[in-house]
Amino acid sequence: MSDYRILYGDIHNHNAHGYGLGSIERSLEVARTHLDFFAFTGHSGWHDMPSMEGGRERHWIDGFKRLKDTWPRVQQVIAEANRDGEFCALLGFEWHSSQWGDQCVVFPRDYRPLFYASEVAKLRRFCVDEGALMIPHHLAYPNGRRGVNWGCFDEACTPVVEIYSEHGNSENDRGPFTYFSHSMGGRETANTASAALAAGLRFGFVGSSDDHAGFPGAYGEGLMGALVADFTREDIFDAIRARRTYALTGDRIELDLTVEGAPMGATIEAGRQAEARFSVHGRDELDVVEIIQDGRVVHRFYPREISPEGEAFNAPIQIRLEWGWGPWGALALDRVCDWAMRVKLRRGRIARYFPCLQSMPFDEQRRHRFAREGEAGLAIRSYTARKNAYRENPNQSVVLEIEAGPDDVLDLTLSEPVEQTSTSPLGALLRGSHNLFTGPFPKEGYQWHRLVPRAASALEGRCLLDVPNGRSHVYLRARQKNGHMAWASPVFLNWR
Ligand SMILES: [Zn+2]
Ligand SMILES: [Zn+2]
Repeated sequence: MSDYRILYGDIHNHNAHGYGLGSIERSLEVARTHLDFFAFTGHSGWHDMPSMEGGRERHWIDGFKRLKDTWPRVQQVIAEANRDGEFCALLGFEWHSSQWGDQCVVFPRDYRPLFYASEVAKLRRFCVDEGALMIPHHLAYPNGRRGVNWGCFDEACTPVVEIYSEHGNSENDRGPFTYFSHSMGGRETANTASAALAAGLRFGFVGSSDDHAGFPGAYGEGLMGALVADFTREDIFDAIRARRTYALTGDRIELDLTVEGAPMGATIEAGRQAEARFSVHGRDELDVVEIIQDGRVVHRFYPREISPEGEAFNAPIQIRLEWGWGPWGALALDRVCDWAMRVKLRRGRIARYFPCLQSMPFDEQRRHRFAREGEAGLAIRSYTARKNAYRENPNQSVVLEIEAGPDDVLDLTLSEPVEQTSTSPLGALLRGSHNLFTGPFPKEGYQWHRLVPRAASALEGRCLLDVPNGRSHVYLRARQKNGHMAWASPVFLNWR
């Protein structure tokens, strides 16, 4: 398969340098906790903003001014955050346009200026001169309501488009994650990614959060994977320009797709048939992997049903620890619950861990923290609340990938919000989840999910595609049983 490594990032998010919440320093700390790279894209302006009821445009105008006033600080914090091989930060801004659709500008270099344009052609010229990316997002809103305007699409600085964010899913006008959380309306068929691909445009897919609470990479709000040669800003940019990217809703599904050996995003010449190969490693049981050619699902793949007990531990297994729940506002018990936990595997090893951190509650001071304690331990500090939770889910979680046998045991020690210890044998977790509570109803709870054997979460396959006369494009869509999804950028065939 492809000879690249996967980095996870978010290249579209907001904070109080603009009309969102939180400092740029906090956004960076949050990003560093759980992402490989991030681009901050502060709200800069809206050249054709409508006048709103009761002068509500103030909300936007004040936000744009805050970004302008603090731009030198934003530039400096981003420039100083870069550590190739560990974490990459990129500078950017967002341009609102009712007519042309919103665009995020992401710079390859530090200390670049804000740019105010009243026409999309001027913004594009600026991006081309800067070598910057210009990425349309929340595509599927109607024209005139800040949805994409495919009429101004140009590959020159737009190798990828954002097909998933907290606004919803713009792949097409059906499918989960509909548009309902904002005031710009529902999904317009002609503005979806599928419609544009069918009309002959060439672009790759990214997901990004568009989170407004200063929380890059917010779980469930959108994320991207980039297939890079090396862990540097240049390589991340190279991957995006080559469309070697994929969109994620939240769970860090590992994706690879090749057609005739060429990676996702590539453009190739093909004969009457072409071979697609893929590899999908989910963070939960996989539901289905679909190969989509020219807008139609042409192949569907399913994982094997749960492997028998003897086989489950032959490969690394995964298990999710989730914490939160607790009382709700109508009980007048709304509160932020602080958590301190230590996970310890008695004999095996925690190979990797995948944080799933949602953005709320907003808190300038509190942080989620993960710290390894040897090969078999993980210390977690976190906080949860129902108030303002993203789509009303107050919970945080982490997925552990572990190498262990059925006789191994997970010890979990809580020191906050209460002192508690529990032991969960893996053999029992293979058969069922383990629910625990910090006290009597309605106090907060936590849960070891039923563990996921590799055979249920990983799928590799290949298929032969019939290539029509003329252009064709092929992409992959994966869905887990828990609803999380991933979309690999298309490979373009005979795209002369
Ligand atoms: Zn926008
Ligand atoms: Zn935005």
